Formats: sequence, C-alpha cells, structure tokens
Amino acid sequence: RAARSSGEKYKAYVPSMGQMFLRRFQLVTQFRQALESDQVSVHYQPKVALPSRAVLGVEALVRWVHPEFGRLDPDEFVPAVEAAGLVDALTDFVLDKALVKIRAWLDRGLRIGVAVNLSVRSLANQDFPDQVAAALERHGVPPELLTLELTESGVMADPARALPVLRGLHTLGVVLAVDDFGTGYSSLAYLRQLPVDEVKIDKSFVFGMGSDLGDLAVVRSIVELGHSLGLVVVAEGVEEDAARDQLAAMGCDVAQGYLISRPLSEERLEAWLQARTTKVRGLRDETVLTL
Ligand code: C2E
Ligand code: MG
Ligand code: MG
Ligand code: MG
Repeated sequence: RAARSSGEKYKAYVPSMGQMFLRRFQLVTQFRQALESDQVSVHYQPKVALPSRAVLGVEALVRWVHPEFGRLDPDEFVPAVEAAGLVDALTDFVLDKALVKIRAWLDRGLRIGVAVNLSVRSLANQDFPDQVAAALERHGVPPELLTLELTESGVMADPARALPVLRGLHTLGVVLAVDDFGTGYSSLAYLRQLPVDEVKIDKSFVFGMGSDLGDLAVVRSIVELGHSLGLVVVAEGVEEDAARDQLAAMGCDVAQGYLISRPLSEERLEAWLQARTTKVRGLRDETVLTL
C-alpha cells in the first residue's frame, strides 16, 4: 500500500497543522464539560496471574466518545489535557470511579484491585499522597487494592520532586507500578532507588518477542531484573498464546492484553468476570476468581 519509491504517488488524508491545532484546542476546551456529561467513561482491562490465570485486578483506562470526532484515542487527548493543566480533573474522575468499583466488589465479597494511570503532574503535587489517603478513607477502600501506575519518563522528568511523592504514596500502602518500562532512558538499576512494587514491560517488546530476539532479550532481562529487585513483573500487550506461554515459562508474574481481554465497559467487565468465576474464595485470599 505504501509508496515504494519516491516516484510513486501516495495520497492520503493528512490533516494540516492548522486543523490539528484546532482539534486539540477544541478537545482541551471541551474536556471539563465532557467529564461532566456521559461522553467520558472508564473501561477496565483484566490482569491475570501466570501461570494460573487467576484474575488479580483490572487497569482503569479512560474513554472519550466525542460528539463530533467519535471515539478518541487516549494517547491523543490525555497528553493534550496534561499540557493544558487539566489532568488533575481526569485523575480525580478515574480514581473516584476506581474506588467506587473496588468498594462495590468488596461488598459482594470480591477482592479485585484496580490500577489507575497517573500523570506526571500528580508526581509534582506534594499534596497528592494526602489526597489519595483521603479518597481511600472516604470510599472505605484498603490501600493495597489500589495500584497507581506511573511512567518511567514521568518519574525521570523531575526525580527530585517525584521521589517524596512516591515515598508518601508507598507509605500509604498503595501498590506503585512503573508503566511502559523499557521505553525510557533510565538505567534498569535506577529502579532500585524507587519505592515501587511492580514493573510493567512495555507492550512493544511483548509484541515483538515471538519474532525478534532483541525484544525477547529485553523482556527476559526485565523479568530477571524485576525479580532480583523483589518486584512483581507484569507484561502488557499479550496478544497470543505463544507470548503468554513464553512469559509464564520465564517466570513473568502477571499478563494483560487482548488475549485475556480488551478493555471492557463496566457492564461487559461484570459479564466477563461472571463467566469466569468458577470459584469465589474468601476475602483474605490473594486471588479471588479463577479462570
Ligand atoms: P497504558 O497505561 O500503557 O495502557 C495500556 C494500553 O495498551 C491501553 O491503551 C490498552 O488498551 C492497550 N493494550 C492493552 N493490551 C493490548 C494488546 O494486547 N494489544 C494492543 N494493541 N494494545 C493493548 P489505551 O486505553 O488506548 O491507553 C493508552 C494510554 O493512555 C495508556 O497507556 C495511558 O498511558 C494513557 N491513559 C489511559 N487512561 C488514562 C487515565 O485515566 N489517566 C492517564 N493519566 N492516562 C491514561
Ligand atoms: Mg497503564
Ligand atoms: Mg503501558
Ligand atoms: Mg502507554
């Protein structure tokens, strides 16, 4: 499909800079109102233990169905919202939904954790740990059921400011995860200095591990390093049986990806969980649902 040589004509719709700027401007100015309407919602993608496939928790992922542009890609609007200084409203929105969800499950005897993605902004906000503590308290949620995902680049942007915030969160007892690991520039050894519990291997390496020895080596070394630092290792982007089996064989702890499930609306997640519940264990057990 793509032009093979520079002589070939290749026509595709490419928005102009002006159009892109306008769209971004619209998204940013409409975001708050979208949050208050039903345009913005949270979907949940399951995470399962390897090799047992027990459901450990879900990742909360924001969704925005725009009246004019349709379904928007979070990789487009989240950075725009961040740049406009509006991301705290997004974080509060998703965190609140996540805590309501965890509490509702607990009330039904289910112990399912939820992971929420954080923006760099939250890591620069010295009051953030107190805000999270207050939210946990308000919703009656034990801290260990909440995971907060931060990206390597987010921490590295300003480690001196991020570190006290991370320590504060860690002290609360929430689970801290480094997302998209392997894509940034920080050395693996830097992980050792962060008060984190979990590392998520970026999906680009997981996609490639079946065909690219380099990707396979990266995945393997993150699993080994993560374990040597006492971290739980999660692989995202698990799309094929072969990848899941390979990950299980190398000792990777948790898998997340389209093979297990795409991100699901609340209703569809409930149905998904229901269909897979063969056994519901007591509240004190580590895992609750078994596939
Ligand atoms: P992320 O946190 O790394 O989330 C994982 C992304 O990978 C999600 O994309 C998910 O749908 C996708 N994914 C999971 N498994 C597979 C797979 O097997 N194959 C493929 N092709 N993709 C898979 P999504 O939902 O589009 O989100 C993109 C990014 O937007 C997230 O990456 C995160 O950085 C950001 N994001 C999403 N929701 C939020 C939010 O509530 N707050 C913040 N600050 N960022 C968010
Ligand atoms: Mg994430
Ligand atoms: Mg990721
Ligand atoms: Mg990402």
